[in-house]
Amino acid sequence: MTLGKDSFNTVEPSFSVPVNSASTENKRFNACVDVHTATSIVSQVGNAPFTLYTFTVACKLTNTWWILQKRYSQVYKLRKTLCTSWFECKLTSGMKSLTILLDHAHKIHFPRRHLSLDDKKIVHERKEGLGDYIAYVVWLRHACQLLVNANRNDQCHAKAHEIVSLTTKFMEQPAAVEEEEEISNSTDQRKPTEDECAICMSNYDPADNDTILELTCGHSFHESCLVKWLDNKQTCPLCRNEALGGFIAAIN
Ligand SMILES: [Zn+2]
Ligand SMILES: [Zn+2]
Repeated sequence: MTLGKDSFNTVEPSFSVPVNSASTENKRFNACVDVHTATSIVSQVGNAPFTLYTFTVACKLTNTWWILQKRYSQVYKLRKTLCTSWFECKLTSGMKSLTILLDHAHKIHFPRRHLSLDDKKIVHERKEGLGDYIAYVVWLRHACQLLVNANRNDQCHAKAHEIVSLTTKFMEQPAAVEEEEEISNSTDQRKPTEDECAICMSNYDPADNDTILELTCGHSFHESCLVKWLDNKQTCPLCRNEALGGFIAAIN
């Protein structure tokens, strides 16, 4: 990412907006990060079956999207680490800006642990809750990156760097997507190579308010059309290349 001090300053005021309810907070993260969640059951010989959550993450902060697969326990573990970081920052002086960012780590709703095996109700609750949490983590990583780029030589800088490394590792972006993130900036957004979405056969229309996702193969589709397709197979509907991520395109 090439965001400098100026972009940090434009983001900062929103950090201090008082947030009253969990739903208001989720709305804020969901405004810049779309997460579509699908589930599947994984059975391995000798182990109890578990639910695998497949998240299609579209980040409007970096104009990239990718597929992320996690078990509940993996997201739970990340949350625990972030909550510990929040607590450490709270007790350390000079860490106010990072404490505010990490505040949501424990404040936003997180589906609770169950000792029993997953049933339909548990999976349904987790599907929604984990998706919202992933949106926050993507937002957090971006906000911490801006803190790092602000280049202040204090404790906050080192800790923000640590959070960026932790969340980057967790997000498992495909290499092609990660590289694009480093060189892209919000002023030069990609244009889709075709005029229409090959899934629904309709032309892209700026009035639609639907995000256009481009795959690393170069083909593009409506976000709402593509996520339904990806639920079944993670290949491009046109050329059958692997579809694990790409970029957000715009037509105007
Ligand atoms: Zn479409
Ligand atoms: Zn393709």
